[in-house]
Amino acid sequence: MLYSIKMRASRTKGNKREHISGAEKILPQSDLCDHAQALIARALSHAKGQPDFINIKIEAASPKEITYIDALPVSTRNVSDAFAGRKAIISLLEKIGVTNANAIMEKFKETYSMRGAMLLDADTLERLEPDKARGIRVTYMGAHLKEHCPVSDTKNHFQEALVLASKVIHAPGIVAEVCMSDDPDYVTGYVAAASLGYVRITKLKQMGCPDGGRIFLFRGTDKERQECIDYLEKRRVLVRGIPNTPCLSTIPSTDNTWKTWQDDLAKRKTTGLYRTMQRITSPQCAHVEADGHDLLLLASNSYLGLADDPRVKNASLEAVEKYGVCSGGSRLTTGNMALHEELEHDLAVFKGTPASILFNTGYMANVGILSALGGKDSVIFSDELNHASIIDGCRLSYAKTIIYRHNDMTDLEQKIKEFAPRQGIIVSDAVFSMDGDIADLPGIISLAQKYNLLSMVDEAHATGVIGKTGHGIVEYFGRKKAPDILMGTLSKALASEGGFACGSQLLIDYLRNTARSFIFSTSLAPAALAAAKEALSILAHEPELVSRLQNNTKVFLETLNAVGVETSSPSAIVPIIIGDAGKAMRLAAELKEKGIYLSAIRYPTVAKGSARLRIAIMATHKENELREAAKKIADAVLSTDH
Ligand SMILES: *Cc1c(COP(=O)(O)O)cnc(C)c1O
Repeated sequence: MLYSIKMRASRTKGNKREHISGAEKILPQSDLCDHAQALIARALSHAKGQPDFINIKIEAASPKEITYIDALPVSTRNVSDAFAGRKAIISLLEKIGVTNANAIMEKFKETYSMRGAMLLDADTLERLEPDKARGIRVTYMGAHLKEHCPVSDTKNHFQEALVLASKVIHAPGIVAEVCMSDDPDYVTGYVAAASLGYVRITKLKQMGCPDGGRIFLFRGTDKERQECIDYLEKRRVLVRGIPNTPCLSTIPSTDNTWKTWQDDLAKRKTTGLYRTMQRITSPQCAHVEADGHDLLLLASNSYLGLADDPRVKNASLEAVEKYGVCSGGSRLTTGNMALHEELEHDLAVFKGTPASILFNTGYMANVGILSALGGKDSVIFSDELNHASIIDGCRLSYAKTIIYRHNDMTDLEQKIKEFAPRQGIIVSDAVFSMDGDIADLPGIISLAQKYNLLSMVDEAHATGVIGKTGHGIVEYFGRKKAPDILMGTLSKALASEGGFACGSQLLIDYLRNTARSFIFSTSLAPAALAAAKEALSILAHEPELVSRLQNNTKVFLETLNAVGVETSSPSAIVPIIIGDAGKAMRLAAELKEKGIYLSAIRYPTVAKGSARLRIAIMATHKENELREAAKKIADAVLSTDH
């Protein structure tokens, strides 16, 4: 059996009875005595003064009579003062279609002398309480607690208000409630509605002000009004899911909606992490024009220098003439052109796999592949230095992601053993984009085979760059074993845009059916497809381009080492670790003044304290300009002025 317990405390002032405090609960019998005591203690220590009359009323409530409802969701609007609080309420009421919110707030003054709430017609503002002096008294309610209800002498305003508001908003015909406490020490009020939930407004009056009241807004027939009043005054209601504190979520007040992001940007500026862009006004070649200056470009991903190649440009122009400028749909609707299928065929042949599938970017390829293959029961083992698109793919998948130490097969194996996945994927950059080193592919594949996992490498910086003829990481390691998934991009050596996966027919069929970045995005445009197809053909037929790139990197590294800058790279990416982000930025700016355009890379792209200059070599650089540049870079890096 449950009991409803109510406490009302008052005192006589002159010949008037003055309300001091009240509270109520619905409790199991075992909790009743303790709570009765706590309620009396509370009545005797109220800020409004000493009562001369305390009424404790206890009534049995059989479980059958009780209606269970859920608590309204809670949010908080922080406001600077009572005026802003009132404005916040008005705008929330307007949001839910109450047109005369201002006039409603004016009515508040009339509630201060009332014991109960004012029931207002939401549209005509007619007062609907049968007894206007008394108002509507919402009663017979409590928080439904699964366990023993803790006893407390102090009032939990928030919980009690949320119980009441939840009951009110469940009443027939009630549109919203606005409440301001009459407790002089409690300035927080709220507005509640089905679609808003319970919105706390942190300031509705001055501290010490005894005014308070509540207004219920109603829409409905006379019959519904009577049902509403009966529900509020008589129905026993227990509210489920009442939280202890209101700190569940905070809605920022309307006058500083953008504050969080503004502050973030300001902080980036003061810490030197604010990002800006440099503008280039020529094609992406070994030399570019920027700010009217000719700069030696040592930062491009166009490794083979094909971005401006006449054959590639012509192929693209012809495709535009023949097929137009866009594909008009996703691959699975109207956007599958012959060019898509031809390029997929060529990529599969080039990578030596049975099949291939295109994505719109390398980023979308990683996100699509990993989210498609990584199910709830699987684990993705990801190198700590993997590209952001792999990280995002892991996040989008339902798989658990385990990060292993960079290229560390011992750590990887230990983690595989520890997590003993029934299914999983090992994923790694083939060439690490910020360090230029190469993944231990044989190690990854043998661990994958030993533990029945899939292996995947991202060849963004490998295709056209490593392996004697630029076929990538499989060629680099002597074509002995291939991973299950070879992912790559068309946007680097292949001088276009787009991404791809190469692998078994099963893999490709599965991705076509499930990879969301493939399915839900308009397919690549003809110009991009034709450019990539031509660039791929040039790469396949002119391996000397790759040799030139590899030789250029060798020349550049030899010069750097000869003049005292220690670094190495098996790919075309050369990192020079500086450490301090500010210093790396200053060096890059200084070198730009001297005609060299390279990138300064810092947190969050690389770990804090490992900021670096990142140099990317192209096949179209001249040997002597690389030697000269290496010397200038060394001068700047080794000088003590920074
Ligand atoms: C550039 C890059 C990508 C993304 O390719 P886009 O085609 O530019 O989206 C993915 N992975 C790695 C390792 C990259 O360097």
